[in-house]
Amino acid sequence: MPDGVAESVPVVTLPGVVDHHVHLGLVDRALLADGPVTEVHDLGWDPREVAAWAADPPSGILVRYAGPFHTAPGGYPTGRSWAPDAAVRHVATPHEAAEAVADVVAVGGFAVKVALRAGMALLPDDVLRALVTEAHSAGLPVLVHAEGDGQAQRAIDVGADVLVHVPWTEALPDAVIARAARMTWISTFAIHDGPGRPIGLERALDNARRFVAAGGTLVYGTDMGNGPTPGGVNEREIELLGRVLEGRELRRAVLGPPSAPTLTAPLPLPVTATDLITWLRAARRLPAPRRPPR
Ligand SMILES: [Zn+2]
Repeated sequence: MPDGVAESVPVVTLPGVVDHHVHLGLVDRALLADGPVTEVHDLGWDPREVAAWAADPPSGILVRYAGPFHTAPGGYPTGRSWAPDAAVRHVATPHEAAEAVADVVAVGGFAVKVALRAGMALLPDDVLRALVTEAHSAGLPVLVHAEGDGQAQRAIDVGADVLVHVPWTEALPDAVIARAARMTWISTFAIHDGPGRPIGLERALDNARRFVAAGGTLVYGTDMGNGPTPGGVNEREIELLGRVLEGRELRRAVLGPPSAPTLTAPLPLPVTATDLITWLRAARRLPAPRRPPR
């Protein structure tokens, strides 16, 4: 391309996409290499296996991992066909909670993942509290899968830091959402998508709008590996996030910290979800920064 033309094209650089909720054990990891997604957070797998993937990740991807699901004996996701035994850590007492958190620290996990699912065995309050206390004293956030009546509220009130799915099984009262405003919620809207007006999705979007209005932090996460999710950018997830956020807030939810630009595209700064999807389709990786000569 002649120099004059290149100069007239607006070039915007932005950080790469951070997917805050994936399961690398359930996807073709090679599909992630050198694409617009630059960081993924694995929220539930055999800790040794996922630590090995993080040490030898797909090219251009930073992998952070939580390690196993912490749940009551028999609690979710015990017995699910997709969940290897080592991906599920049963915790029956506060003492076992302390041991489980120490194991997450030992394997290099960045967070403690907890599952609370009504209709299956549930962690009692004292064990749940112990998981949160132990995680926090180890400097790790607590990330909760909360599903079914009252479980999101339990996570909020016990001091968990993150809900790994925006609550979709019930409309949370405003007072509960106000108490949650210190938290981060991970979107995962697209997994509830379907024909008609899927009630779970509508509920999640409504909870998310009130959460953001109350000052909560909403971030992009796809639950990649849960069903036929794309291995890379999930455009539907961005589209649905665009029903809640736009402009700087949308970019902040989907992309990494602005200090680390890794993508470039010959398009203006994206404002809407449609802009952002178009921008990401056109984006290329910037060359890795060269180390200064010694
Ligand atoms: Zn998940």
